[in-house]
Amino acid sequence: MTHFVFPPAALTVLAVSGGGLFPVRRIFCVGQNYADHTREMGGDPSREPPFFFAKPTDAVTSAPTVPYPPATQRLDYEGELVVAIGTGGAGIAPAEAEAHIYGYAAGCDLTRRDLQAEARKIGRPWDMAKGFDASAAIGVLMPADEVGHPGKGAITLSVNGMEKQRSDLSCMIWSVPEIIATLSSYVTLAPGDLIFSGTPAGIGPLFKGDRVDIRINGVAAHVFTVV
Ligand code: MN
Repeated sequence: MTHFVFPPAALTVLAVSGGGLFPVRRIFCVGQNYADHTREMGGDPSREPPFFFAKPTDAVTSAPTVPYPPATQRLDYEGELVVAIGTGGAGIAPAEAEAHIYGYAAGCDLTRRDLQAEARKIGRPWDMAKGFDASAAIGVLMPADEVGHPGKGAITLSVNGMEKQRSDLSCMIWSVPEIIATLSSYVTLAPGDLIFSGTPAGIGPLFKGDRVDIRINGVAAHVFTVV
């Protein structure tokens, strides 16, 4: 008889508005999907298209507190629309993409900016800058059945009540259907996959005690405190 040599880890889940749990599979992220953020990172959005990176599933937290991570002097917020895949597929056409979406959440792609800057400079991977524990703060998942598919609407992030980021979902370089089409040309998407869709300009540092409030008009909100 075969057996687990130690108990398997608990599933990572997101709470769904109205009840139920969404089992999380993988976390993909889009880099530089708003032109104003590409420019603030020193890039040229007309020459550098968005790109993908990933975080481990264990990085997800929906807790009201997020621990300040070790090994960084510069933890940054990035407020983002998170897209939750309900139906998998490969080679998904943009026109079919919305049918693959279960719902949406507000999220924060927490980033060790100092480690990222170092990695960018010498062309090394971003994993330790982007994929650390509790680096994917995500709120309650709103089913698309209830909130629809927002192609536009304000996305804001405030720290301690001061607005730091404000843009509109319509300002994404790759729209959500285009993200799904492009990503599914690289990997076969599966139910449970999450996609961070990129952050607008206004990124900045967080400190212990800061209260972060991300709002996406008509879709979702998520609030947490750095401890
Ligand atoms: Mn991001």
